[in-house]
Amino acid sequence: MTQQIHIIGGGLAGSEAAWQLAEAGVKVRLSEMRGSGEMTPAHQTDGLAELVCSNSFRSDDAEHNAVGLLHAEMRALGSLIMASADLHKVPAGSALAVDRDGFSEGVTARLAAHPNIEIVRERIDALPASGPTIVATGPLTAMGLAESIGAATGADALAFFDAIAPIVHRDSIDMEVAWFASRWDKGDGKDYINCPMTKEQYLAFHQGLLDGEKTEFREWEKDTPYFEGCIPIEVMAERGVDTLRYGPMKPVGLDDPRTGRWPYAVVQLRQDNALGTLWNMVGFQTKLKYAEQVRLFRTIPGLEKAEFARLGGLHRNTFINSPQLLDRTLRLRKAPHIRFAGQITGCEGYVESASIGLLAGRFAAAELLGTELVPPPPETALGALLGHITGGAEAESYQPMNVNFGLFPPVEGKAKKANRKRLYTLRAEAALNQWLGREAPAPAEEEKEDAA
Ligand SMILES: Cc1cc2nc3c(=O)[nH]c(=O)nc-3n(C[C@H](O)[C@H](O)[C@H](O)COP(=O)(O)OP(=O)(O)OC[C@H]3O[C@@H](n4cnc5c(N)ncnc54)[C@H](O)[C@@H]3O)c2cc1C
Repeated sequence: MTQQIHIIGGGLAGSEAAWQLAEAGVKVRLSEMRGSGEMTPAHQTDGLAELVCSNSFRSDDAEHNAVGLLHAEMRALGSLIMASADLHKVPAGSALAVDRDGFSEGVTARLAAHPNIEIVRERIDALPASGPTIVATGPLTAMGLAESIGAATGADALAFFDAIAPIVHRDSIDMEVAWFASRWDKGDGKDYINCPMTKEQYLAFHQGLLDGEKTEFREWEKDTPYFEGCIPIEVMAERGVDTLRYGPMKPVGLDDPRTGRWPYAVVQLRQDNALGTLWNMVGFQTKLKYAEQVRLFRTIPGLEKAEFARLGGLHRNTFINSPQLLDRTLRLRKAPHIRFAGQITGCEGYVESASIGLLAGRFAAAELLGTELVPPPPETALGALLGHITGGAEAESYQPMNVNFGLFPPVEGKAKKANRKRLYTLRAEAALNQWLGREAPAPAEEEKEDAA
């Protein structure tokens, strides 16, 4: 009997999932609301896999960059999104940028021509009660379906904004200045990293927040009723000079081991992934421009040399608390006939969204065809991102995340930064080959030595 599946949403993730399933021999009904008189606030066309903003897939360097590595892994798995991107590439140095119309038209044409795919222009307003389904409706999921997802998952597990606090690589924090401690010495003493501030430092920092250049909200973002729960720090700063000291920068109960006293103010960082390689700045969601964030946050004692895995932001973005809700193959634990894919799972970016669509499609195909698909190993970019979404991230502070080397199990040894990246990618290449059951092409000896 021919197997069938329903995919809701024909964006980056839904298109890739449809392709993977159809290629595996499964019949797909792909429901996309654009083209039926509906539109999201960011899309402009009826094309599948439309790029809503930049035309860049970011770095294409598979040897030193995590997103470049993800490109390479997706190509190895027959990704339609990558094939169309490569076909419609425009010059952009070491980045992969595309002609957006050609790219989207290419994806739409190949899906429309596939004998296993039926594209239906319709809006879906509720999660199907039965039948294999992939939900890939993205950051701007239409409200009826979002409410249905909220009802199925619990309202607390569905967000309408990503209030993103900056995330710092642990090994770039100066622990001669910062120290581990929980307020009033509760917990195991390793829950927070604390960066102390004197009065002068705090006042200068407060002024920096007021003066810093900010990104404006879009009109349609301001209109949503979900905003009050995630006020940006600069808005808190505008409410009074001490508002932050009574809020996220509260010093009470935190004895600085260097002085034996509470500092005037504190910036706290909380562990963000199970590996302990990434730490988020608690309560520091912000609309400050990226360059301004780097400049200002590096004035915080202990963060002078901070490397950011991601910077802060605040956008309209519908996403579920995947670490809490999904199993390792992206199925909703409570209703396993439903899988989620794309940005709604809490990954961030075109490529990441498409890659999670690719995995959702492959997992669903394996299940429908009665074969087994073991998730990709955590040493690969696909496996690292999937692992983060389905369990590696802390559920309480879960926020959307781009792929980055902080999501990978750390490599051993003390190689220099550029060489370290190559160690990650060499290891990933071998792990992917093993997962695919392929003989790994051995890296040249001098390359291994260079990386070490
Ligand atoms: C304003 C904005 C700008 C962004 N800019 C960038 C950027 O520059 N670079 C980057 O890498 N990432 C960017 N992102 C993040 C993200 O990469 C993109 O949103 C990406 O398109 C996500 O892919 P997706 O497949 O999960 O969702 P989408 O590509 O948005 O696809 C979801 C699809 O589902 C459809 N849909 C929604 N609800 C329903 C429903 N109820 N029934 C049927 N169909 C439905 C939508 O019409 C849409 O086609 C941006 C996001 C936003 C919101």
